[in-house]
Amino acid sequence: MRHLILGAGPAGVTAAETLRRADRDTTITLLEGEGEVPYARMALPYLLAGRIDETGLRLRTDADHFRRLGIDLRHGRAIKVDAAARTVTLADGATLPYDRLLVATGSRPTLQRIPGIDLPGVHTCWTLADARALLARARPGTRVVQMGAGFVGCIIIQGLVHLGVDLTVLVRSGRMVSRMMDPPSSALIRRWCQAQGVTVRVDTLPERITQGDGHLDVHLPGGERLPADLYLCLVGVKPNVELLAGTGVRIEGGIQVDDTMATGVDGIYAAGDVAEHVDVVTGARLVNAIQPNAVDQGRIAALNMAGRSAASRGTFPFNILDTLGLKSSSFGAWQGVEGGEAVEVTDPARYRYLKLQFKDDRLVGANAVGLTEHIGALRGLIEGKVPLGPWKARLQANPSLLMEAWLACKLKA
Ligand SMILES: Cc1cc2nc3c(=O)[nH]c(=O)nc-3n(C[C@H](O)[C@H](O)[C@H](O)COP(=O)(O)OP(=O)(O)OC[C@H]3O[C@@H](n4cnc5c(N)ncnc54)[C@H](O)[C@@H]3O)c2cc1C
Repeated sequence: MRHLILGAGPAGVTAAETLRRADRDTTITLLEGEGEVPYARMALPYLLAGRIDETGLRLRTDADHFRRLGIDLRHGRAIKVDAAARTVTLADGATLPYDRLLVATGSRPTLQRIPGIDLPGVHTCWTLADARALLARARPGTRVVQMGAGFVGCIIIQGLVHLGVDLTVLVRSGRMVSRMMDPPSSALIRRWCQAQGVTVRVDTLPERITQGDGHLDVHLPGGERLPADLYLCLVGVKPNVELLAGTGVRIEGGIQVDDTMATGVDGIYAAGDVAEHVDVVTGARLVNAIQPNAVDQGRIAALNMAGRSAASRGTFPFNILDTLGLKSSSFGAWQGVEGGEAVEVTDPARYRYLKLQFKDDRLVGANAVGLTEHIGALRGLIEGKVPLGPWKARLQANPSLLMEAWLACKLKA
């Protein structure tokens, strides 16, 4: 059996290792697309912040790891899958055959479609190459205009502040991390960043970028012009799916997969940031672009590719964000669900906030700022769909009793 895995991020690497554990003799090829040793994108902010060097990014530290496991790690870009012939064509013209194929190609940043977005000095921060380019250019006092303050945008702020740049963050919507945090949480994060010297402007979308005299000019609506040495575009991502054109694999927000990570086209599976599966809490389909999800889906796909049976109960969306030292988190349906109820407590002076979302006698989502001690309990109660019984009323009266509720309900279960 020939297993071919496209992509050597957390999903692809976990899948290759799982396949090897499941079958000692099978042929496993792992294709890496950036000419790098397999690494974790989530460690890039630590590289920018000077907390690790490049070896700290590696998904596996032992240089011989893949060879020892009999995994053929190759570098190259896949450009076309032929589902009928069961082959994958690479950019250099080579063709790789497969019996089972895992597409774990992740996603890539989308760039704003504005004039000037291709000028030198415009960057993004998704790959190791991007981080190296930023490190080469950002110095104390470098004027950086960052467009976008989503999850990745907010983590990157830490590295940029560490580098001593003069940072202005532009936010398209009315609030930072709008896909993860409710308005009060976002307001706390914004105030925190501003208190640490970062300029944050919401409801702002540049119209164009031009080359000034030795710098860029970022043109805002109304004629205002921001001078910048670097323009950092962090406005969103899209899945790397083009290579599946014509295969019959269904693609919407990402590659549609079932509970076994199969795509419905014989022999083709998908996992990680490229795949769309159901949310365990709401049942809605979503791309859950976090590393734990990639690892989990890579493992499930590999077991099924190896002929074992493994099924996902659905994916659980949660994010834990560190913005310049302020920790915030979101779990499940943090915006609430129809017919649900919510309760919140806040202490703005201390940058603390907790909002719990209920449906019937279960917790379905939460937002928290400045609170880290309840993270395990929140995840357990929401992902586990734990019936709260009398603890619902107790939590509504005092949301900070989360740990007590978790222990009591877990012991009862
Ligand atoms: C700056 C940053 C910070 C993050 N922080 C966190 C965090 O704190 N917590 C968290 O859980 N998640 C975080 N994430 C998200 C996390 O990194 C992703 O969810 C995770 O990397 C997804 O893993 P993956 O294997 O699906 O895809 P990826 O890690 O994107 O790997 C995809 C692989 O496919 C390869 N590839 C792509 N196209 C091709 C092709 N055509 N041919 C061959 N190879 C190809 C790529 O080179 C890469 O090896 C962060 C991401 C970024 C960018």
